[in-house]
Parts: sequence; structure tokens; C-alpha cells
Amino acid sequence: MIYCKRCLYPENHPLNIVFDEDGICSGCIIHEEKDRLNWSERAEKLDSILINYKNLSGNNYDCIIPVSGSRDSYFIVHTIKNVYKMNPLLVTYNKHYNTDTGVRNLANLRTVFNCDILTLTVSPEIVKKITRATMRKMGSIYWHCIAGQTVFPVQIAVKFKIPLIIWGAHQGVDQVGMFSHLNEVEMTRKYRKEHDLMGYEAEDLVDEFDQITEDDIAQFKYPDDIEIEKVGVRGIYLNNYIRWDSKAQHENMINIYNYETLIQTRTFDSYNDVDCYNYSDVHDYIKYIKHGYGKVLDHACREIRLRRMSREQGIEMVQKFTNKTPKNLSLFLDWMGITKNSFHYLIDQHRNKEIWKRNDNWEWELSDEFALGLKDISRDSDKLNLIEPFTDFIKTPKKESSDSIGEYILIGKGAV
Ligand SMILES: [Zn+2]
Repeated sequence: MIYCKRCLYPENHPLNIVFDEDGICSGCIIHEEKDRLNWSERAEKLDSILINYKNLSGNNYDCIIPVSGSRDSYFIVHTIKNVYKMNPLLVTYNKHYNTDTGVRNLANLRTVFNCDILTLTVSPEIVKKITRATMRKMGSIYWHCIAGQTVFPVQIAVKFKIPLIIWGAHQGVDQVGMFSHLNEVEMTRKYRKEHDLMGYEAEDLVDEFDQITEDDIAQFKYPDDIEIEKVGVRGIYLNNYIRWDSKAQHENMINIYNYETLIQTRTFDSYNDVDCYNYSDVHDYIKYIKHGYGKVLDHACREIRLRRMSREQGIEMVQKFTNKTPKNLSLFLDWMGITKNSFHYLIDQHRNKEIWKRNDNWEWELSDEFALGLKDISRDSDKLNLIEPFTDFIKTPKKESSDSIGEYILIGKGAV
């Protein structure tokens, strides 16, 4: 297995990473643009795009911002509403796996930014049926979340005739360097299907075996191209115009708006996925089974490229967190109504057998080639100089509320 000599990405990254002759990955090469581009010019470019979408008649919103109780939601709304003075409509897909921290963060976001928000909560029975099918078909418990998050904003854009959708970072740019920032890639149905949805659009789930009908998938269907063109819907990514630094952005949001953080079991990043019981937990454990690595490796690569973590420190982080048992599996099994054995049986069908081997006790182990490849073999010339020392992620005090019940919260009170 080839690993990047600068960050830690292996060549089996699911988003098509490539390596140059020095063994440096495409993600690291494109990341160099963050220190090379003229970001004040890029910000002016963003301004020139946004200005065309200001609704001067005052009878509609200027744009749509997809939000949740975590991630870049605060930073995007802060930038668009308070810096660029746009009037956004917020939209959120209810992922059903909500933590109380996420419910509070979303409630606080609605309050401090004083925006209108639309929420889509699909019926629990349909969500469970779809999750059963996606576990079987692609070994994913997260398809419905990603499908919902990426399509609900587009449906609303078409329905309410609001042509501009504003997203945070494009992973094809920020993680793997599939495109330059200067390509200014925008949202496409094709990228969503191939990369976000693992090759399965909603229509591909209709199946007699899983008992999924056209009606069940209605909320996850992408609007017709004709409807999209009629309104002129486009989705832009802020990381093409703003030098993206997730850690610094979150810390700013903690200071200004009291964004709440949450310690995670399988990664050191306690800022990004605090609204979900599964994303950095059960879902991440499944990623590990499929690809041999988890979110902690993504987070370490990000910190290495931003020159806050050495490659050695990154390897230590990966080794510390990758094998951690997910903490919230029993919550998921109860919600889904399946046994632990059925869960493992379903997920094992999607295990990457090229990197996992059975040991003498018939347990799965990462092959030596994969596990031992992650050591510090890079030359000094490959390494980036640290510009600041790595500092721990901030732990905000946990706010107690009536939503703190230790279970998925379908609809929280969210009062702040
Ligand atoms: Zn790299």
C-alpha cells in the first residue's frame, strides 16, 4: 500500500487520490494553493457572485444555506449573513441520529443569526426501511443522511425559486485535490451520485427484495434537470473563495456564538460531527472496515497540511483512535431493531478483503502490508515545517437541557 509521504492518505482513498513521482498525493499538492493564492482577490470574486443574487424586490430570499447542528454551519451562515449581508433561507435535513448537543447547536444557530429555517423530517419507518436496504446494498447506515442533506436544499431551491445554494468545503478539492480552487467547481448531480452516495441514487434503491417502493424514496429524489435549469439553480462552495481552516473557523464560532463541542470516541476532532451519534462512531467504524482507516486519519491529514501537526504526531493520533470500539452501536441496534450479529454479518459483506485477513483465532486483522505501511518513512525534504504547535481542541462546558436523555432525539425542544 502506498501512503503519501507528506500527509497520511493511502492510495485506496475512496475519492480517487493520485500520487506524483515524489510520492506526494494530489490532496497535498492542491493544498499548497492555500498558501499561494491571493485570498483577498478570491473574496472579491465571491462578492461579485453574491451581488447578482441579492433579491432587490424584497419578495424572496437571496440564497439557501444547508445547515445542521454541527460542522461548518455556523461559519457559513456567519460569513453569508453577517459578512456579505445576504438574506439566506436555512434548510436542514433531520438525520434522526441527533445528539442533544446537536439539537442545542441548531436551536442556538436559529436564534443568534435570526434566520428562517425549513426542516425535513422523513417518517422514521421509511428511514429505517431505507437504512436496512443501504446496509445490505452498500454497507452504509448513512446513505439517507447524505442523500437527504444533499437533495433537500435542491428541492427547496426549485420549489421556492431561490437559485443559489451555498455549501462549505468541497471534499474533492479540500481532501484529495481532484480539482484546483481556481476551477471553482460547483454542485453537480453526477458528483453527488458517484462520490457522496457511493453510486446509488434514490431510484436505485427501489427493490422488491428490500420492499422499497417509489413512494418511499420520494423525499430523496433529485429534481429533474429541466426544473433545475428553469430556476437556474447552482450550488457554490465557499472553500474556493475563502482559505479553509476548519479548526480555526470553529474556534472563532465558539468565541462569538457559543458553539458547543463534544468529545468523540474515534477522533481527536471534537468540533465537526457533534450533532450525530453515528457519524464519528458507528459510521466511522464501518469506514474503517471498508477502507482500513477512519475519520481520525482525515483529521490528522488536514492538521498536517495546515502545518500544525507533524507527520509523526499524525501517525500517533491514528494509532491511538483507529481501533477504538464505537460507543454508540447498541443505540443504533435498538433503533434499527437488529442484533449485533446481523449488523456484523451485513457489514462484513462489504469488508475490503484485500486489506483485512483472518488471524489464527479467526478474527479480522489488517494485513501487515496495510498496517505497517503507516510508519514514518518519509524523507525530511517531504515534510512540512510546523508553523504553530498542535493545540488540543477546546472542550466547551456541556449545557444541560431537557433534551439530555442519552438517546437519538427525533425532534428536540431546542430551546436556548
Ligand atoms: Zn498527501
